[in-house]
Parts: sequence; structure tokens; C-alpha cells
Amino acid sequence: MGLWESLDAMWQMPAEERIFGVVLLFSWTVYLWETFLAQRQRRIYKTTTHVPLELGQIMDSETFEKSRLYQLDKSTFSFWSGLYSEIEGTLILLFGGIPYLWRLSGRFCGYAGFGPEYEVLVTIYADYIAPLFDKFTPLPEGKLKQEIEVMAKSIDFPLTKVYVVEGSKRSSHSNAYFYGFFKNKRIVLFDTLLEEYSVLNKDIQEESGMEPHRDGEGDSEEIKAKVKNKKQGCKNEEVLAVLGHELGHWKLGHTVKNIIISQMNSFLCFFLFAVLIGRKELFAAFGFYESQPTLIGLLIIFQFVFSPYNEVLSFCLTVLSRRFEFQADAFAEKLGKAKDLYSALIKLNKDNLGFPVSDWLFSMWHYSHPPLLERLQALKNSKQD
Ligand SMILES: [Zn+2]
Repeated sequence: MGLWESLDAMWQMPAEERIFGVVLLFSWTVYLWETFLAQRQRRIYKTTTHVPLELGQIMDSETFEKSRLYQLDKSTFSFWSGLYSEIEGTLILLFGGIPYLWRLSGRFCGYAGFGPEYEVLVTIYADYIAPLFDKFTPLPEGKLKQEIEVMAKSIDFPLTKVYVVEGSKRSSHSNAYFYGFFKNKRIVLFDTLLEEYSVLNKDIQEESGMEPHRDGEGDSEEIKAKVKNKKQGCKNEEVLAVLGHELGHWKLGHTVKNIIISQMNSFLCFFLFAVLIGRKELFAAFGFYESQPTLIGLLIIFQFVFSPYNEVLSFCLTVLSRRFEFQADAFAEKLGKAKDLYSALIKLNKDNLGFPVSDWLFSMWHYSHPPLLERLQALKNSKQD
């Protein structure tokens, strides 16, 4: 039977069987695609046995090898656990597991919806509530502040204040950000970004009674070693380069674009949900012939019907976000900060490198923020010009 005949046969089926078939087919397509990507990445773990040249100074071959073997183990495990859960999910669907579980758990089935809601709550907490309790201090007057003001002015960023926030305790994705509306914007720098500010570094300075200069003459070897081990953060030029990247996001309108996209997405989802929730064949496809419980409707629509849309959307957003990151790097580069951004990125990623090499297709599908190595390579190409 050719492809067209099978498609035709499918078209002749009742709507609920068609829906069911498409859901199952899509689930396996996504599964096979991701397995294919994981195998490509696995090949990278197998064949990349040396630290990439760019990272030579921050990663030794022993750490690299350890991380490589760990990732290999992990990929073996995820292969089997992925296969298991795909088969389990398929069997549940095929044998009418959802109505069965629904009857079994009665009203409490709704708890299945807890996962994502909980996640949203945690995100809201981490992004909006927790920062309220952080300690913000104005960046003291000085060279760094002046330079930040000059840079902000040069790109028409309406800067009103610069703060430093104690971020040492929390690990965070970003090192600097800005907030505020229209003509009233504030820049916030994490103290971990600043070499001359960090709490850790202050302790060293007090202990040794030395100036916050890195290469002060006449330090004993011991103190130098201590400073080398503990001192973190970036030099002023590097801080400016990182900030140049962040301000690039603003100047290029990335922030606004992201807000518009997520608003449009929520609107579309609610609209489609309202249209779909009344369709009985959707419920029938999953074994609910008599009743149409709303919670099951939520599950079916968000988990299964939206799943192709979500895959496509999340891929587009990943592509877009990567593009934004490279554009922001290029913006910093246009401000003449390529070299400083390069060294800042190396410093800032020193402690969370993991396994630094990735297959390009795997990376493109999974990483909304390009891995360090890809950013460094993009910057290096321009540094040589
Ligand atoms: Zn960025």
C-alpha cells in the first residue's frame, strides 16, 4: 500500500480515530527525532577527546575527560529511560489508560496538572519575588560608573541609576540586567561580575591589607596564590563588554519582541482552547464517549493537541533566542568590545562548563542560549578582522 493510499485510508476513518492516529504518530516522530539528535551528540562525546583550544586555560584534560565519561554514561541512561517512557506512554494510549486512570483516581486526577503550575510558580518566585529581598546598593562613584554612563549615553540608553546586587549566594543565568519603563531605566550588576566589588575579594583585601589592584607589586607569593585562587569577577573593561551585550538586547528591541511574542502566544492558546473544548470527537479519541470532563479536556488539548504546535513554537523561539544572543554579542563587538567580551565570557563560564562541545544540530534544537564555545568562535572570527 502506497503512501497516498494509506493517507486516503486514514481520511476515511472516523474523526476520533484520525485524531488518535495523528497524536500517536506525532509522539513517535518527535521521539525518533530527539533520539537521532541525542545519538549525534553521543558521537561527539565519543570522538572529542581533547580540550578545545579556546578553553585550554580554564579546563584541564583531567576534568574534561571526567565530564566526557559522565556524559557518555548519562546518554546511555537517557536512551533507555526515554525508550521506556515512550513505550509506556504509547501503551497507556492504546489500551485506553487515560479513562481508566481517570476513573481510578476520581476527582484527584486534576493533580496531574500540578507539574507545570508549580513550575510557573517557582519561576515567578525566582524571577520576580526573590529579587525583592536582594540587597541593592548603588554603584559607588568612580571610573566604572563614569564609563557605564558614557557607554549608555553613546547608544541613547536612558540610564538613571546603576545598582549592584548581591548575587553571590544565588547562581544565576545572567550577570547584569536592566529594568524600568521608557525614559527611566536602571542597570543592575551582579556583584559576582565585578572584580573590585565582590564580597569574596573584599575579604582577601582585608586579610592582606592590599589595594584592590590585582598586580600590586611586593605581594608575597602566598598572597598572590590566594588571590589567584579566590579572586573572581571581571576587570572594568570586561564588565563594560558584558553590559554592552545586555544593552544590545535593549537597543535591538529584543525585550519588546519577546513580550509581544509571548502575549500573542497566550492569546492564541486560550482562543484555540475555547474553540476546541466543545468538540466531542476530541474526547472520544481518548476513550471518553459519554462524559467530557473539563480537566481531561485541558490534558488532551494542552498535552496532545497542542503538542505539534508547541514543538514548532519552541523550536522557533530557540532559534530566535540564539539569534538574539549572537546579535547582542555582535552589538558589543561594534562598540569595540570583542576582545573584552571574549575574555569575560571565559571567566564567567569557568565554573559551569560541563562538557563544552556540542553537535551543531543538537545545540540548535536544544540550546536557547548558544554554548560558550559557539559564542567564542563567533567572536574570534570578528576579532581577527
Ligand atoms: Zn544575552
